[in-house]
Amino acid sequence: MKPRVYIETFGCQMNVADSERAATGLRESGYDLCDSADIADIVLLNTCSVRERAEHKVYTRIGEVRAARPNDRNLMVGVMGCVAQLEGETLFDNSSGIDMVVGTRATDRLPVLIERVREGEKKVIDLGERDEGQEAWNVSPVERHSPHVAFIPIIEGCNKFCSFCIVPYSRGRERSRPVSEIIDEVNKLLSLGYKEVHLIGQNVNSYRPRIEAGLEQFPGATPFCRLLRAVAATGMPRIKFTTSFPRDFHPDIVTAIEENPNLCNWIHLPVQSGSDRVLKLMRRGHKRDDYLKRIEHIKNSSRRLALTSDIIVGFPGETDEDFQQTLDLVRQCEYDSIYIFKYSKRAGTPAAKLPDTAPDAVMKSRFLELESVQKHSQRRIYDSYVGRTLSVLVERNSSRSHNDLVGHSTCHKVVNFPGESHLEGEIVDVLVTQAKTNSLYGKLVNRSSVA
Ligand code: SF4
Repeated sequence: MKPRVYIETFGCQMNVADSERAATGLRESGYDLCDSADIADIVLLNTCSVRERAEHKVYTRIGEVRAARPNDRNLMVGVMGCVAQLEGETLFDNSSGIDMVVGTRATDRLPVLIERVREGEKKVIDLGERDEGQEAWNVSPVERHSPHVAFIPIIEGCNKFCSFCIVPYSRGRERSRPVSEIIDEVNKLLSLGYKEVHLIGQNVNSYRPRIEAGLEQFPGATPFCRLLRAVAATGMPRIKFTTSFPRDFHPDIVTAIEENPNLCNWIHLPVQSGSDRVLKLMRRGHKRDDYLKRIEHIKNSSRRLALTSDIIVGFPGETDEDFQQTLDLVRQCEYDSIYIFKYSKRAGTPAAKLPDTAPDAVMKSRFLELESVQKHSQRRIYDSYVGRTLSVLVERNSSRSHNDLVGHSTCHKVVNFPGESHLEGEIVDVLVTQAKTNSLYGKLVNRSSVA
């Protein structure tokens, strides 16, 4: 029997995409993939380090996995992803339950590393760089997280070095994938019946492939704008992209969306703070006004574009006045939704050395106040969808009711409606009849004629 591998994924879409690639490589190398740690011979934890104490969670999870099978001497446990890259050897020092540590650029070498452990080598570790020019980006359809929606990494790493963020250290410098590879992947997904792709990266606007052959025929103010038009030209019904960085967000992105109906009505543009003073401490490289100009352009689009953002409250040195400016910006931007994070210190980042971290009580009260302001405008935005018909990609049955289906609109809203499961994977029109804070409810009108 082939050895069975279970990969448990934490964190962002990039980690999901990495796990899909890892699973593809392992299956090609003769392993089976399974969906439970209980029956696996090899358990891999693909970790995230964005939040504080991430490594503690890893140790806890390893403890649980080992405790479930205390006498199984053949069980192999590996840590991969951002915590592995950042903590390295320390993981072995702090837990005897780890056999292998695999950095963020060593995913392709997993089969070889596992083999080394199976041959008896102790504490196998690889924090090295990618094998330049030989990266395996291909993902088998069976390993994808959905048969309808696929994540396509277009750029990895980040050169921005925002003072609070660990990503440039855990993921390394920016590296863009060649356009031909991306287009080939989209075409392949199209032929397999996929209806939606998400072009993903820590900062997709920075997309700058070394060889731009294939992009010249598509107009665009930046390589990313050209890429958007090139991907749109494949005919993939729905294309989303995330995450955008304000400083690199060129207005031509909005023009590309306006020109191509299959580029979806959603932009995620994290601002992090509404105060110039805090933005400077965060080393974001943009000011409040720069950001608001971009928002104005998005809001003035001929398409109704949904807008989402990320905001940190309680950044070191954030005063009440700074926070009021964030509240004011959030009111002004009228976001469809925001992700609010209480500042969490990440060792090794410049912000970790800053004084004046807000006390927990202040952090909590700012979080709640911002949440309440956002809920107010979000309520109004969601209510405004009632009576409108949205094009929805049906992704699955609802976990609450077997008679209901769930999907996303092109504006990235969760939409629930009664329907039969044979519609899964179809793009349908849904008339919205009710709005809740984070989701919409409606009834099927017909199959969508509009992507
Ligand atoms: S842009 Fe800033 S917040 Fe985003 S990944 Fe890069 S360093 Fe982190």
